[in-house]
Amino acid sequence: MKIGIPRALLYYNFYPFWLGFFSSLGIEICLSDTTTKDTLSKGASLVVTETCLPVKVYVGHILNLIDKGINKIFVPSIQSLQNKIYNCSKLRGLPDLIRNIVKKDITIIDATLDLSSDKKLYDFLLEIAKHFNINDLNKIKEASKQGFKMFNNFHIMRRSGIDFKTALKYASQNRVIIPNVEKEYPINIALISHGYNIYDDLTSMKIFNKMEKLDVKVYTAENLSNEQMIEGVSALNTNLYWANELEMTGAAGHFMQNNKIDGIITITAFGCGPDSLMVEKINKNSKNFNKPILNLTIDEQTGEAGFITRIEAFVDMLFRKKRANILKNIDLNEKFIINKETTINKTSNESINNN
Ligand code: SF4
Repeated sequence: MKIGIPRALLYYNFYPFWLGFFSSLGIEICLSDTTTKDTLSKGASLVVTETCLPVKVYVGHILNLIDKGINKIFVPSIQSLQNKIYNCSKLRGLPDLIRNIVKKDITIIDATLDLSSDKKLYDFLLEIAKHFNINDLNKIKEASKQGFKMFNNFHIMRRSGIDFKTALKYASQNRVIIPNVEKEYPINIALISHGYNIYDDLTSMKIFNKMEKLDVKVYTAENLSNEQMIEGVSALNTNLYWANELEMTGAAGHFMQNNKIDGIITITAFGCGPDSLMVEKINKNSKNFNKPILNLTIDEQTGEAGFITRIEAFVDMLFRKKRANILKNIDLNEKFIINKETTINKTSNESINNN
């Protein structure tokens, strides 16, 4: 028993759950390969230009699974995970979209999860398992327990600051590691986006590696608890509307109130309606909280050089701002005499380096 899972879109939210769930049922998962330019261009060639980048990438991953000879592919329709809070139409209509553009002889496992309706989680899981002739509700309950175990372990590690790939690796081995000491960085940035935009190395242009080189600590929604993000939504004086809104407005609202965070970067896909509305709310509020903000939009034409230059310029501005604040707060009569050349040392724990 084998199921293909595209390494795209909600893979970045729920894969630890699927791994625990399907493994417990004795179903082997075959993941598509990591995204390449070829994945993207093949996916983009099948959809209209206006489609958002993550969906183009997703289509490319479906084609990759077909090339690998997988004939049962998991394409759920995740409508709603909370009462009356819905996903965007593309995520909801994903199975129909794939069925209509990928005209190949494959089985699409297209179960629907809509927690705003009478159908509950176990109905959804049973609908999936039936494709493998599994109808035993007790088995489903046990498998979902295993799924939640991996999912929770993954999130414990992410919250404690372990990076995405390491957390996924340990969670899939049923292990949890917690870092002993957290390295201090001179600049802390909150990166506001969806998992599929920032953990895919091609679409994000390896933003985490770039930030590490710039000596910047990056925080994301996964470092926060649900309660912190819910409180973040009210801090921005707004209500939840979209299913994946907590990781955008919720996280932004929380980080804006956090004095440790020096600035905020949002990354959204060109053509994404929900994200443009969420970013609008975030931008409006960033002024009230006096947080510098950089909005980046990605599509398949985004050049890495321009993308990195904007990030570097933003980080440089944050360094200068922080240096100016430190200088403002230093009593010149104290033992340090700070001259105009004083800089923040980017590589050591010292915050002031008197030249
Ligand atoms: S939320 Fe936006 S980026 Fe994500 S799938 Fe929907 S339209 Fe695309």
